[in-house]
Amino acid sequence: MAVDPTFRAAVEAFLDANDRGVLPIVQAGHPVLRVPAAVYDGQLGDLFEDLVHAMRLTMLDAPGVGLAAPQIGVGLAVAVVWDPGTGEGAAEDPRERTPLEHRVLVNPSYEAVGNERRAFYEGCLSVDGYQAVVSRHRSVRLTGQDETGRELDEVLTGWPARIIQHETDHLRGQLYLDHAELRSLSTNENLARFWADSPDPSTAARILRFDLP
Ligand code: ZN
Repeated sequence: MAVDPTFRAAVEAFLDANDRGVLPIVQAGHPVLRVPAAVYDGQLGDLFEDLVHAMRLTMLDAPGVGLAAPQIGVGLAVAVVWDPGTGEGAAEDPRERTPLEHRVLVNPSYEAVGNERRAFYEGCLSVDGYQAVVSRHRSVRLTGQDETGRELDEVLTGWPARIIQHETDHLRGQLYLDHAELRSLSTNENLARFWADSPDPSTAARILRFDLP
């Protein structure tokens, strides 16, 4: 739990250069997105809270439902997540998009619970303008810590489980495209034009000719 003064100063300068507000989001092709993030062990000291605050502002501004530190160019195993869900319609939504509270994941890890998988379109703030279908575990067990150092051990299902998998994969140097059905790749405009009637991707799979699990 030792503060790294050089690293802390660099992150502080970065936050200050952006007026402690919304940070620029790194796009695919930048090495920081492909290197496994460093375990967070107190390197930032009291600046940690400020980093998390700026990450939250950045996620909400984008807008997105999760943001991993490498996406703002900081190679630490830290992510923020938040999703209000689909509200009234959540019961009929095959994505099971139930609300996910604002939370901070520190050194997160997940493993599958059961062997059910679900395939849906998802996107990434670091692959701006596109979405693709990714098959993921329907339920996962999340471990790691929260922002206070408390140990996490819980099971999430549905869309919250997808968000956790997506953000944790970032911290391993992975992007969702690594696991996507590439023939499903769609611009946001074409997703809205052709495939937005239902979150169920089976019509898109038939016409664009990609496989579903
Ligand atoms: Zn992402």
